[in-house]
Amino acid sequence: MKTTGKVSGIVSNLVTVTVDGPVAENELCYIDLSGTRLLAEVIKVNGDKASVQVFESTRGLKNGDSVEFLGRMLEATLGPGLLSSIYDGLQNDLTTMEGVFLKRGEYTEALDHGKLWEFTPIAKPGDKVVAADWLGEVREGWLPHKIMVPFAFEGEYTVKEVAPAGEYNIDKVVAVLTDASGEDVEVTMTQKWPVKVAIKGYREKPRPRRIMETGVRVIDTFDPIAEGGTGFIPGPFGCGKTVLQHAIAKQGEADVIVMAACGERANEVVEIFTEFPELIDAHTGRHLMERTTIICNTSNMPVAAREASVYTAMTICEYYRAMGLRCLLLADSTSRWAQALREMSNRMEELPGADAFPVDLSAIIATFYSRAGMVVLNNGKTGAITFIGTVSPAGGNLKEPVTESTKKAARCFYALEQNRADQKRYPAVSPIDSYSKYLEYPEIIEYLDEKIEKGWVDKVLKAKNIVRKGKEMADQINILGDDGVPMSYHEAFWKSELIDFAFLQQDAFDDVDALCPMERQKYMLDLILDICDRSFEFEDFEQCRNYFKQLINILRQMNYSRFDSEQFKDYQQQLSKLLS
Ligand code: ADP
Ligand code: MG
Repeated sequence: MKTTGKVSGIVSNLVTVTVDGPVAENELCYIDLSGTRLLAEVIKVNGDKASVQVFESTRGLKNGDSVEFLGRMLEATLGPGLLSSIYDGLQNDLTTMEGVFLKRGEYTEALDHGKLWEFTPIAKPGDKVVAADWLGEVREGWLPHKIMVPFAFEGEYTVKEVAPAGEYNIDKVVAVLTDASGEDVEVTMTQKWPVKVAIKGYREKPRPRRIMETGVRVIDTFDPIAEGGTGFIPGPFGCGKTVLQHAIAKQGEADVIVMAACGERANEVVEIFTEFPELIDAHTGRHLMERTTIICNTSNMPVAAREASVYTAMTICEYYRAMGLRCLLLADSTSRWAQALREMSNRMEELPGADAFPVDLSAIIATFYSRAGMVVLNNGKTGAITFIGTVSPAGGNLKEPVTESTKKAARCFYALEQNRADQKRYPAVSPIDSYSKYLEYPEIIEYLDEKIEKGWVDKVLKAKNIVRKGKEMADQINILGDDGVPMSYHEAFWKSELIDFAFLQQDAFDDVDALCPMERQKYMLDLILDICDRSFEFEDFEQCRNYFKQLINILRQMNYSRFDSEQFKDYQQQLSKLLS
């Protein structure tokens, strides 16, 4: 018997329902509004009163309207066809909609049930399998998409039958498994999973042991992110968060990209629709969308739908990770998600924490970030979710609760500075405030020693120190004046500017400069550090400035030229002439 109830209180999207039976937290229900069914999620239960958050506008809803509880939580539909899709937080397919947004009470199918997929079996009758083990494979674009034992299956099963190779739709029974009690269960190519629960089905989750290259110098060299690592990009509006995330999406070493766009404004979501599908994969030259799923929300969508979107995105990543793929999850911006949490908690009249965010904001953010990571699957293969979220702190205040809580959860911090953005020093990532904790991991140091060269991290720290020292010198020169400080101050300042202009700054819109492979990053850093190691004898600070400006100019031209082109060699020669 399903639990039912009656609406007994309405505050915007928060509705109180008097229930006639048991309901669970996070359970879904439908509220009947004169024939239109509104989906809602239980967020609190107190006696026979359930507080439910409606995913849509509650306009016209009244006390006494009837409610039907579904006995399940908000689930994602998983299966071939997720890639290239654009969904809202409830996985409604937004590309099939006219205009961008659904009418109230309308829900769409997440996956195409008619499309045929070329299936190849992996498991054989008699095999012993558990949840997440691979039964077969289809090609999704050019990626191998594994059909797995559903994650919800508990204990060991014996494979009874597997469908032969052939073209099937997602509803086709591709395997029959027998459970321990001898009962047969059918497996199709699609399954569902509650988005707020992490998908397990792997053997272990060790610490990350390699870097995910992004082609962005300030990240890869200065503050690299691990494959399976976490990072966040806080920055005020217009500082380049979205441009940086798109650069990482285009160039990052990942198989699958899931973009959770929690839009600041409706026009930004329209941008996602128009811009993201245009992005070209820097490695293959194909459309990035072929291996991307977008989950999209705007702040005018109801709060619970916005809150759900990041979980849906994470669940899709976990699904692909279980296939042994490397996933990149990008969320822009997680502040909108936190605001959704705040709105919900305020309507519930919960005791508020700092800035009226829920008291457990830090725990919610930490739990979410902890779902990322590198895993070793049951078959010994590995998969990873690298997660990078942006945070848009009001007024650029990095002391606000969302930034502070995220700082505790994420291992990389890419602070975008208004100052740098104003000066068009892009990407505006502060070389001084930003950090990557992975640079302290012994396994990562060892990896870099092997991949790049022995002692690489020391070299990076040396470059960071030059930048830090340059900043101090700049402060002194500002206070005491150009003539009031020794020449060495000017020299130290200009050495840091050299690193800044010729290495840290990178034009995301230039075909060559946008993607800088690690080999090239090393070449440039070596070149620059060699200059920094020299001591010069300048007659006055103007001579020093002019000299460094010439160096900067040549090195920047090098960044814009193809590596090892004639042009590049020409600049190399100009540089050696200037240095001799
Ligand atoms: P945010 O998402 O933080 O509001 P955007 O990512 O939309 O900011 O960036 C705002 C603008 O800054 C861009 O339209 C672009 O002109 C400029 N910009 C940001 N990053 C770069 C970059 N790496 N190279 C060149 N221009 C950039
Ligand atoms: Mg943005």
